[in-house]
Amino acid sequence: MILGALEAGGTKMVCAIGNEQGEITERVSIPTETPDITVPKLIDFFRDKKIEALGIGCFGPIDLNRNSETYGYITTTPKLAWANYNIVGAFRQALNVPVGFDTDVNGSALGEATWGITRGLENSVYFTIGTGVGAGIISNGKLLHGMLHPEGGHVLLRKHPSDPYEGKCPYHRTCLEGLAAGPAIEARWGKKGVELADRKEVWELEAYYIGQAIVDYIMILSPQRIILGGGVMHQEHMMPLVRQEVTAQLNGYIKTKELEDMNTYIVLPSLNDNQGIMGALKLAMNELEYEKHRP
Ligand code: ADP
Ligand code: ZN
Repeated sequence: MILGALEAGGTKMVCAIGNEQGEITERVSIPTETPDITVPKLIDFFRDKKIEALGIGCFGPIDLNRNSETYGYITTTPKLAWANYNIVGAFRQALNVPVGFDTDVNGSALGEATWGITRGLENSVYFTIGTGVGAGIISNGKLLHGMLHPEGGHVLLRKHPSDPYEGKCPYHRTCLEGLAAGPAIEARWGKKGVELADRKEVWELEAYYIGQAIVDYIMILSPQRIILGGGVMHQEHMMPLVRQEVTAQLNGYIKTKELEDMNTYIVLPSLNDNQGIMGALKLAMNELEYEKHRP
């Protein structure tokens, strides 16, 4: 089966052709400009590939409510050219195939749960900690959407008593994204994350915030495994520090087999940065199934 996959990001669009085994046979990357400029290029890529369905993992916020008039739209994004843009409709009309749609980070969660390190688990969380923070959640075997979709980077955190930084989120200041995303690190310490590699206090504070958020996710969602992706996690110090923080902040309250080994409970992504595009393939497969069984 030939399937199309699109990872729609704020700076680039990754388009791929693959199959239901998650194998990618062809891929291109196209810079994200305005819909008028960019979407025709994407459609040109997919047009003659004989795909049976397309899956899109998309930056948000997006409308995932199938009963809504604006289902398949990018909604209130600060990337204004894309605000209120019917991205699913554009591809459906041009390619005339089913189009699966979800958030970029839900796509990554799905890729890992289908072919990667959370395969076979009914409950898992995938965080991306980069320019922003997002969380993709699989709960009882399904991507969690709820009334919109989780905005897992904006959970509110308690500040560390020694941290004078006010927080970068324009809505909440001290949410996880406001305290721990790449731009918050840069604003707090005056340098980019990559240039702060040898500053222990930077990564201890970072782990304190990420650990705090993870503890909240553990309490609410009871995930069987947690994946941490995104540019900030390229810092090698981070993973051990985060695991330590989670253990310390849980303080023995939950006792499960999974939590006994933090090295297998909190892990890096396993699909060589293909988790997002592979997840989009799975979104395409899921949409074909949905169309088959639609009433
Ligand atoms: P995006 O979130 O834009 O898709 P990334 O996940 O690569 O892209 O995140 C970019 C952010 O991560 C930037 O703020 C950057 O400073 C930070 N970052 C990237 N690499 C590293 C690194 N090795 N160490 C610390 N921070 C990093
Ligand atoms: Zn926020």
